[in-house]
Amino acid sequence: MNIGFAGLGIMGSAMAANLVKAGFKITVWNRSADKCAPLADMGAAVADSPRALTERCDIVIAMMANPDAVQAVRDGADGIIAGLTAGKGYLDMSTVDAETSLESARRVHAKGGLFLEAPVGGSRKPAEDATLTIMAAGDRELYDRSLPALEKMGKKIMFLGKTGQAARMKLANNLVMCGALTALCEGLALAAASGLDTAQLLEVLDSGAVSNPMFRLKGPQIAANREFPAAFPLKHMQKDLRLALRLAEDSGQPLFATATINELYKSALAEDLGDSDFAAVSRVIRKEPVAARFAQKKKQLL
Ligand code: NAP
Repeated sequence: MNIGFAGLGIMGSAMAANLVKAGFKITVWNRSADKCAPLADMGAAVADSPRALTERCDIVIAMMANPDAVQAVRDGADGIIAGLTAGKGYLDMSTVDAETSLESARRVHAKGGLFLEAPVGGSRKPAEDATLTIMAAGDRELYDRSLPALEKMGKKIMFLGKTGQAARMKLANNLVMCGALTALCEGLALAAASGLDTAQLLEVLDSGAVSNPMFRLKGPQIAANREFPAAFPLKHMQKDLRLALRLAEDSGQPLFATATINELYKSALAEDLGDSDFAAVSRVIRKEPVAARFAQKKKQLL
């Protein structure tokens, strides 16, 4: 199977590398062409446009930043759809809203192709280790055809039905993850401000009902409150919160906590933390000088 891969960011570069290692014939394309070099060194071919990917390959996978980026590589004279012919497949693994996926499916079907959305759970390390959770929906025929490749990128693969269902599932998953991470940031901030040992709080959490790999991975980093190198860029998490809130509005379901958490992430973006890991939201929550000033004022007033 000839597979094209567009979007060699944190996730796409690791996922494409796993396909090359598994022996698939891979052709890659990325907007910033320098990111193709490591894949080319591993044996991948390099295309000079998204259109060239679909002309050359049976299936094209995209792993793009957001709905605008999906649109940019999908549409237009040099886009994925322009190179598509009947029977070929377009598989979008980016995290986007259901409307973006439905539009992709419409355009692909108009050319006689097949469409699958397949957003992923798991970050940089699971992408490298091929242990992602893959949520797929759309054309079952393309799912069946792509399964051997999906199995080289993920450990848990689910087919969820009609186009849009996987996009919605991914957004519901991410708001839970983001809520848990934000609660961890607040707990650690409170522990630090009230004189507790943050390492001991992490130990207490790890021995209880909320023990999880994300807390084990990011807890010490948040407690240290220093560098937050991006595994999952904060700007992408804010995009997911925004899309989840839009879905909630359309579905008539209020999301009380998520709406507040989104404001925190917007503040983090305003503080130039968009390219840091999403755990850097801790910087907005944990304001040592504010905590100290608050304690001082309280003493004066009461
Ligand atoms: P990333 O490192 O920021 O990579 C984004 C990719 O999109 C890059 O290839 C970038 O190209 C491309 N891109 C952005 N705007 C574009 C445009 N207008 N035209 C063409 N290409 C454009 O992001 P990532 O972390 O790999 O995430 C990719 C997707 O997976 C996102 O939807 C994210 O929400 C989702 N996701 C991420 C994680 C994670 O932990 N990182 C986990 C699960 C899901 P350049 O290289 O030229 O900038």
